[in-house]
Amino acid sequence: MADRMLQFVRLDQRNPEKRDAGTRRDDFGEIYRAFDPAAASSQASRCSQCGVPFCQVHCPLNNNIPDWLKLTAEGRLEEAYEVSSATNTFPEICGRICPQDRLCEGNCVIEKGFGSVTIGSVEKFITDTAWERGWVKAPAPRRELAESVGIIGAGPGGLAAAERLRTRGYQVHVYDRYDRVGGLMIYGIPNFKLEKEVVLRRWKQFEEGGIRFHLDTQVGRDVTLAELRARHDSVLIATGVYKAREMAAPGIGLRGIVPALDYLTASNRAGLGESVAALESGQLNAAGRNVVVIGGGDTAMDCVRTAVRQGAASVTCLYRRDRANMPGSMREVYHAEEEGVRFEWLGAPEAFLGEGGVAAVRAHRMHLGLPDATGRQQVAPIPGSSFDLPAELVIMALGFDPEDLPRAFEEPALPVTKWGTLKIDHRTMMTALPGVFAAGDIVRGASLVVWAIRDGRDAAEQMHRFMQQKASPLAVAAE
Ligand code: FAD
Ligand code: SF4
Ligand code: SF4
Repeated sequence: MADRMLQFVRLDQRNPEKRDAGTRRDDFGEIYRAFDPAAASSQASRCSQCGVPFCQVHCPLNNNIPDWLKLTAEGRLEEAYEVSSATNTFPEICGRICPQDRLCEGNCVIEKGFGSVTIGSVEKFITDTAWERGWVKAPAPRRELAESVGIIGAGPGGLAAAERLRTRGYQVHVYDRYDRVGGLMIYGIPNFKLEKEVVLRRWKQFEEGGIRFHLDTQVGRDVTLAELRARHDSVLIATGVYKAREMAAPGIGLRGIVPALDYLTASNRAGLGESVAALESGQLNAAGRNVVVIGGGDTAMDCVRTAVRQGAASVTCLYRRDRANMPGSMREVYHAEEEGVRFEWLGAPEAFLGEGGVAAVRAHRMHLGLPDATGRQQVAPIPGSSFDLPAELVIMALGFDPEDLPRAFEEPALPVTKWGTLKIDHRTMMTALPGVFAAGDIVRGASLVVWAIRDGRDAAEQMHRFMQQKASPLAVAAE
């Protein structure tokens, strides 16, 4: 029913209702309410069903967006779910946390002039409805295969591969050093962007589908890569990037200067009902304090907004470039501003002041210069521009680098790039070690959930080919 579509000329863009900033500050609940079926259907009907859908081209999963929008507009939600879940292991998660303004929605042809189709919110609506109505099923292999795979890392990259391989019938074992499944989706990303129940219900279903999780198991400490290679027919490394970038400045060792991920993990654990000593002792707690978060990425935005919810006296984000040049999503900056966060653009720390514990950040103003070879404008301090920001808690959110995996895994033959990420053959997703594949942030560097899913999905296909080839070389050659 094409006449149901193309409604953008008549209907305005509408997002699901956003909770008022005043009430958001008091809890960790997600900030958007759900679409009701009528709103989802009418918003989906705004799509013009492009012959060349740029939304799909710019979705890392190449989701068949026009088809599931049309099905939603027609009220055929179960079919919409089938189409959307065919390419995405976690559509409800991507619908919540993809930076749509840079991906699908930012490339929607009606964006200029009419406001893009609200693709992410419709994707979330479809899958949340599928959960409510029992359409989301555990991976169900048609037949069991003898071959087994070992997946290191239960983040989105590892899980996407696990789901695909289990559906094909492989015996899938996932190893993770954490006590819960989800990687950064469980301990990094805060509840107000992604409520943890959304991740936990997937974990439960994967277990029901026969995926075996070996938690509290750190590869390199509790088991070696060599042991996993001997145990399984192929191995996937999807360990993410966790080494916090540091900076050198006078006073950096003062008490009260903490890494972003320690801070966010403590808050997420508390949200999951754990008693977290570092929160209770105040070590990783913003309550009543002046907080300065250093950095301008999405992790910094998550920290400032967590500090607001913990009841900080004031929250300031200090970033050395300006608003237009920050790496984080504009949408998150906007939410943070609404919630009362102050931004000090073009400011960088010079020193940390205090006796024993930090009491203030001394910063200087920065000047944005000419672009370098990468096209990014360079920054330099402006002499004599120092100013002090009171801060009893300073959160460092300067980005992440990979750990030294060849050393941690006692596998010097594992090749890495100059940035420490794993080197793979991008056609086969395999490292130089036969049967050892890699996916997600450990290959790309810190990236996005949707890219980790894409990599996990592609790695699963390549691992399948590899194992089939081993079992029956002629059959695969003929494919
Ligand atoms: P991870 O999610 O990091 O998972 C890796 C897993 O491997 C972890 O569970 C870890 O415990 C495990 N592991 C590591 N080493 C070992 C070992 N030796 N043995 C066993 N297990 C090991 N992306 C978005 O798309 N939207 C967002 O809004 C967003 N917000 C973010 C906010 C924060 C604070 C952070 C830090 C990241 C955010 N990201 C966001 C990025 C996104 O979370 C990552 O790109 C994505 O999770 C990467 O997936 P992954 O599977 O490669 O790794
Ligand atoms: Fe958009 Fe992300 Fe969904 Fe792709 S997965 S359609 S980029 S929200
Ligand atoms: Fe629909 Fe926009 Fe995609 Fe075109 S680009 S198919 S209008 S969502």
